Amino acid sequence: MTKAPETSAAAIENKPRDFIREIIADDVASGRHDEIVTRFPPEPNGYLHIGHGKSMCLNFGAAAEFQGRCHLRFDDTNPTKEEQEFINAIEADVRWLGFNWGKHRYFASDNFEQLYAWAEHLIIEAKAYVDDLSADQIRVYRGTLTEPGKDSPHRNRSVDENLDLFRRMRAGKFEDGARVLRAKIDMASGNINLRDPVLYRIMRAHHPRTGDAWCIYPTYDYAHGQSDAIEGVTHSLCTLEFEDHRPLYDWLIENLPTPSRPRQYEFSRLNLSYTVLSKRRLTQLVKDGHVSGWDDPRMPTLAGLRRRGLPAAALRDFASRIGVTKNDSVVDMALLDHCVRDNLNKLAPRRMAVLDPLKVVIENYPEGESEELEAVNNPECDADGTRMVPFGRELWIERADFMEEPPKKFFRLTPGREVRLRYAYYVTCIDVIKDARGNVTELRCNYDPATKGGNSPDGRKVKGTLHWVSAAHAVGAEVRLYENLFTAEMPGAESGDMLDDINSCSLDVLANCQLEPALGKTAIGETVQFERQGYFAADPDSTPERPVFNRTIGLRDTWAKVQKKGG
Ligand code: ATP
Ligand code: MG
Repeated sequence: MTKAPETSAAAIENKPRDFIREIIADDVASGRHDEIVTRFPPEPNGYLHIGHGKSMCLNFGAAAEFQGRCHLRFDDTNPTKEEQEFINAIEADVRWLGFNWGKHRYFASDNFEQLYAWAEHLIIEAKAYVDDLSADQIRVYRGTLTEPGKDSPHRNRSVDENLDLFRRMRAGKFEDGARVLRAKIDMASGNINLRDPVLYRIMRAHHPRTGDAWCIYPTYDYAHGQSDAIEGVTHSLCTLEFEDHRPLYDWLIENLPTPSRPRQYEFSRLNLSYTVLSKRRLTQLVKDGHVSGWDDPRMPTLAGLRRRGLPAAALRDFASRIGVTKNDSVVDMALLDHCVRDNLNKLAPRRMAVLDPLKVVIENYPEGESEELEAVNNPECDADGTRMVPFGRELWIERADFMEEPPKKFFRLTPGREVRLRYAYYVTCIDVIKDARGNVTELRCNYDPATKGGNSPDGRKVKGTLHWVSAAHAVGAEVRLYENLFTAEMPGAESGDMLDDINSCSLDVLANCQLEPALGKTAIGETVQFERQGYFAADPDSTPERPVFNRTIGLRDTWAKVQKKGG
C-alpha cells in the first residue's frame, strides 16, 4: 500500500529537517518506496552509549515521522565478542529511550543460511574465490592508499575448486584462519575496500544464537547490506567511517539476487567532550575496573546515564538539538547538561536534603514537639501541589551555610544574624558550640513563631534562606557526587592513552546525609531536586532503611551563560 504523500508531509511539517530526512522526504514524494524502513543495527559486544542514542533518534525518529518502521537488528557476526547479556541490555536501553521495534527484531545470524547460499552464488558467477593466504599475507598483498594491490596466487581458481573448498570450509575441514572466501572485485581499485574483501572467515567460536552450527562466519561488510536487503530496509543509515564501504555495499547488492535494493547514507558520529564513545574503550574502562560496571553513573552508556538520573526525554532533546550532519565535530558536554537541567527543572519534584549536616537546636521551641509545614513540590508546575514537611526543635542545616567570621557577601547564618528556614521560620543564631579542637559541632538558635511559613508579618527582611531537615524525622542516606570521568576534553588525544587523562576525583561518596522523610520513599530511578544543590536520582543500591542518591547534575547552567555571552 502506498501512503499518500500529503499525509506524510503534514506529519513532518514541524520536525527539524536534516539532509537525511530531506532524502527520505524526496523518496516519499517520488513514490520510490511503499514504506520507509530503517534499522538500528547494534553489535551485541557491549552496552549502548549516547552515540547509539543519536543513531536511534535518527533511525526510529525518521521512520516514525514518515509513518514507516524501524527494525532492531543485532549485527551478531563476530561470536568471539558477543554475549546474551549485551543483547538483553540493548533491548532494555532502546525501550528506555522511548523506541519500539514492534515485531521487527532481527538478528544477522538469522540470515546465515541465506548468506551462505549467496556466497555460493558469487562463487558460481566467478565473483568470489577461496584464498589460502594468511591474514598477514592478505594485508601485504592488499597494497596501500598509494600503491595498487597484488593478485593472490589463488585468485584464479576454478569455480568447481572454489565451491569444493568453500563447502569444506563450512564442513570444518580446515583450521581456523587457514582459508577465507573473498569477493573477486579489483585489486587495483583506488578504494581499498574493493580490493577483494574477505566475505567469510573460519572461526570456531560458540555463537550466542547459532551455537556451534557454524565454523565459518560472514564479515560485517558482507552480512550487513544483505541483511538490510532481506529485511526490506530502504534507508540504511550509518556513520561516516562507512562512506568508503558504500561501493562494496552497492557491489554486493548489485551482484546478488537480493529481494530489495537498500541504499546506504552516512552521517557524522557523535563525539562528546570529556568522555569516550567507543565500545573498545568503554570495555577497557569496565574490564580494568576504572568504573563499577557498564552502568556506572559516570559512563556515557545509556545504562549509566539512566542510573545517573538523566531523563530519556532530555537525551532525545539533545539529539534533536545537535541534529544530523556530515561534519565531524566534538559536542560540548555542557549542551547535554543544559538539556538535562531544562527537562528536570520543569519536572523534578523539589525536596530538602542536607549533604554535610550541622546540628541546630532551636532553644525557644518546645522540647518533644513537632509540627508539619507546607512546602511547594515544584514552583514550575502548580499541579504538583504541596507536601507537609516535619519541623522540630532539632534540625540539620548545611555546614557551609554557617560561618563564624563571614566575609562581606556571605548572607547565610552567622552569630547574631537572622535568616529564613525555607517554608518554616526566621531563626537567629545565639550561640556556637565547639569541640575541644575548636570545630563547630552545634548551633543554638531562637525562632520567631510569627514568621511561620517563612514570612515576617512586620515586613522584616532577611537576606539568606536555608534548607533544613528535622533531625527527629530525618532519613540517613548516602549521596554520590560525580565529576567527569576524564579531565581532558578529548581523552587520550595527547598521549594516545585515555588513562593518562582519567579523573581520579570523579566520585565522591558522602556517607552521612540527612534527608526529609518524603525522600525515603523515592522510587529507584526517580530524579528529584535537592533544593539549592542540584538534581539527584535514587540508586538501585538503596535499601528501605538507607537510600542512596546519585547526583545527576548541579543547578548552575554554564551552557546558558556561554550562549548569552555569544560564546
Ligand atoms: P563503537 O565505535 O562504539 O564500537 P560501533 O559503530 O562499532 O560503535 P555498533 O553496535 O556497530 O557500534 O553501532 C550500532 C549503530 O550505532 C551503528 O549504525 C553505528 O553507526 C551507530 N553509532 C555507533 N556509535 C555512534 C556514535 N558515536 N554516533 C552516532 N552513531 C553511532
Ligand atoms: Mg560497528
